[in-house]
Amino acid sequence: MRIGVIALQGDVSEHVDALKRVISERGKNGDIVTVKHSGIVPTCDALVLPGGESTTLGRLLVYEGIADEIKKAALNGVPVMGTCAGLILMAKEGDGQVQKTHQYLLSLMDITVNRNAFGRQRESFEFKLSVSIFDTPYIAIFIRAPAIVRCGDEVKKLADIDDYIVAAEQDNLIALAFHPELTDDLRFHHHFLDKISKDQTK
Ligand code: GLN
Repeated sequence: MRIGVIALQGDVSEHVDALKRVISERGKNGDIVTVKHSGIVPTCDALVLPGGESTTLGRLLVYEGIADEIKKAALNGVPVMGTCAGLILMAKEGDGQVQKTHQYLLSLMDITVNRNAFGRQRESFEFKLSVSIFDTPYIAIFIRAPAIVRCGDEVKKLADIDDYIVAAEQDNLIALAFHPELTDDLRFHHHFLDKISKDQTK
């Protein structure tokens, strides 16, 4: 199993560490590779788009020729997990701020994102979330977090805070508004790796 963490900017090492822990908890062998240029994504069985600053990340993804590789992989069923800025990049549509700045989006999931939904109110906070796929609450860490404000029919909502959807999935794709790599609770990373089908492993 080979998992690529897009490493152009943002909280890369935390995801690498979390993935290493999850792989060892599952008793599996796996490589975690950091993706800084094109040519690596096509060799990966799963991809993580970490948090950071989504306009910068988007620009670098295009510049490095990685954006099209991610789109192709996602279409081929490779699991992709986007967290925080990564969620923004996975969206098909953005709010006024995203539209005004013509920010690049990968358009992987049929969601509309409000780029700084919580950031305007509170820079960062923890929230005890009810997640539809987990039996017990999940404590999520939000940092200048976005939120999903519209989901297409194919998108499954996993968790929300009032009107804001903060976790969702669409087949092989998972979008989280918070930072699962910053907590010891690795259930989302496990759920993500569950999506790698055996016949897909390179
Ligand atoms: N809201 C930020 C952005 O627009 C994302 C914040 C984060 O990834 N922690 O890029």
